Amino acid sequence: MANSGTSILIIYTGGTIGMINDPETGSLAPFDFDHVMKQVPELNKFGFNLTTITFEEVVDSSNITPEIWIHLAELIERNYEKYNGFVILHGTDTMAYSASALSFLLENLGKPVVFTGAQLPIGTLRTDGKENFISAIEIAAASKNNQPIVPEVTIFFENKLYRGNRTRKHNADYFDAFRSYNYPELAKAGINISYNFSAIHYPVIKHELKVYHELERNVAILKLFPGITPEVVDAIIHIEGLKGLVLESYGSGNAPSLVWFIEKLKEAVNKGIVVLNVTQCSAGSVEMGVYETSLGLIEAGVISGNDITTEAAICKLMFLLAQKLSKQEMEVFLTKSMRGEING
Ligand code: ASP
Repeated sequence: MANSGTSILIIYTGGTIGMINDPETGSLAPFDFDHVMKQVPELNKFGFNLTTITFEEVVDSSNITPEIWIHLAELIERNYEKYNGFVILHGTDTMAYSASALSFLLENLGKPVVFTGAQLPIGTLRTDGKENFISAIEIAAASKNNQPIVPEVTIFFENKLYRGNRTRKHNADYFDAFRSYNYPELAKAGINISYNFSAIHYPVIKHELKVYHELERNVAILKLFPGITPEVVDAIIHIEGLKGLVLESYGSGNAPSLVWFIEKLKEAVNKGIVVLNVTQCSAGSVEMGVYETSLGLIEAGVISGNDITTEAAICKLMFLLAQKLSKQEMEVFLTKSMRGEING
């Protein structure tokens, strides 16, 4: 386990964990970090050096932006050498997106970056925030043979540690808010925290951390539904400057075989829009070519997203499109695992 020289940087971005009821509106609104820390005096028992950075403007995570992701990545970059691990307190609504984005922005990560938050504010009696926060710190500090146990961007929630770019928020009401349908949990917290070592990524050769500072915002998500009209597809593919599109298709990557639909996708691809096919299903993978209803997508030049989540897919597109890659390079990177976000 970690020793007393362990230093953890806590970055408080906002979210329910630190919210209180606004006396004027009666709604939950983010509050200052001192309030969060006061609710968890137990943290002193760890004996770690805990430093906190609070966002100047703490936000409900529905207000998270790609600029904030870059800011988070830069905070980690600036503090990387000084700390053993990082805990990011964040709202649950977009946590899966933020963890995905950070995983791409931080290449060759060798230290834990653990996202956590809560479904109930930390000041409330039945809060889940305390346990999530305490365990996230323990995981961020955990080491074996002087090496961090989980050198990845992760989400810790309700006793489970997940690879961040594999998660989705699947429940708005219960404490087990997250799931990783296509990848096993990296750890489970019971009496002890038991790590699933074979699921954690350990770099074979260690390289220096490389932090990226750009994301492309001209991207969109098109979710298919029976009865979708040409006008809807047109409206999306003709967005000025659009560079990337996540197509949320049915089942194993299927879509209507209507001529107009395939023609419009072809038009988009020919204009240089990168179209990435992901499934609307919670679990499983796109396998274009299995059904006739996906042949048109292949013909149109749509790329398979394999078993990537929509959350990771949109972030991966933002990340790769900012790199100004060639069409071929783009396809290579989209179809291979860069940060463990897809199988293969
Ligand atoms: N709306 C909140 C947020 O995402 C929900 C939460 O934190 O659980 O910031």
